[in-house]
Amino acid sequence: MVDLETVEQFLGSLSFCKVCPLECGVNRLQGERGRCGTGFLPEVASYHPHFGEESILSGWGGSGTIFFSGCNMKCVYCQNYSISQLGEGEAISIEDLARIMLALERMRCHNVNLVSPSHFAPQILKALYIAREKGLGIPIVYNTGGYDKLETLKLFRGVVDIYLPDMRYASEESALRYSGVPNYPEVNRQALIEMFRQVGEVMLLNGIAVKGLIIRILLIPSLVEEALENLRFIAENISKKVHVTLMRQYRPVYKVSAGCFPELNSFIDDNTYRKVVRFARELGLSNLILQ
Ligand code: SF4
Repeated sequence: MVDLETVEQFLGSLSFCKVCPLECGVNRLQGERGRCGTGFLPEVASYHPHFGEESILSGWGGSGTIFFSGCNMKCVYCQNYSISQLGEGEAISIEDLARIMLALERMRCHNVNLVSPSHFAPQILKALYIAREKGLGIPIVYNTGGYDKLETLKLFRGVVDIYLPDMRYASEESALRYSGVPNYPEVNRQALIEMFRQVGEVMLLNGIAVKGLIIRILLIPSLVEEALENLRFIAENISKKVHVTLMRQYRPVYKVSAGCFPELNSFIDDNTYRKVVRFARELGLSNLILQ
């Protein structure tokens, strides 16, 4: 864990926010909001044991999810859009965030699962510092859209036990069109390499993950070829033994169901899903999670 001085400096950097790759430069200490839509205080929509994550995270006690409001990505198909883009959630103090982490441990969750943490990285680091001082002992999961800055991730070395990033796009055009972020493939790939450097492959204890990288690939209609390209990147540049979740729960919601982006207005059918699984196996990826 980094020392308190580094944590405070990181918090202070919110006066000219460059926490994520968008580098808005707004003064969040004074309540200004950048592209993520959030100011200084952490904003939380809900927290509870969650049983719908990968079984190696949810186990029998649940994964202790904390859903943060806002997001640095603006996905037109976001499955949690009311939280990520419409402001659902409440501002709380950093001390209260630490109390929530400890409460999830008392509820016997297997881990603290930080959902969409990227834009609150300094506040989370401080809350983790406080919670660790008070005895928090369960693994920390960093559950992110994968648009994360290297300098920020490096501060979480030894703090985060499990990285759970998405790998959404292999082309800049798609990332800009559907999530409004520049350079996603390069940023995302560098971030995943750094995450793997920090935590490596998954380690299990009694069937539950305690450390490691789990990469999520959400299959999106019309972007399946990009998913295949990302799978190839994982096999060639990260590891064939890394855990990869192939997710088929995409539903056309939010701006897609409103009639925009008709190319995304469908579902992933069985044949397409089977094709992706077969491709991943042919690449030699040996730890696939199908859900
Ligand atoms: S965290 Fe938010 S305010 Fe800061 S750079 Fe990213 S989008 Fe901008």
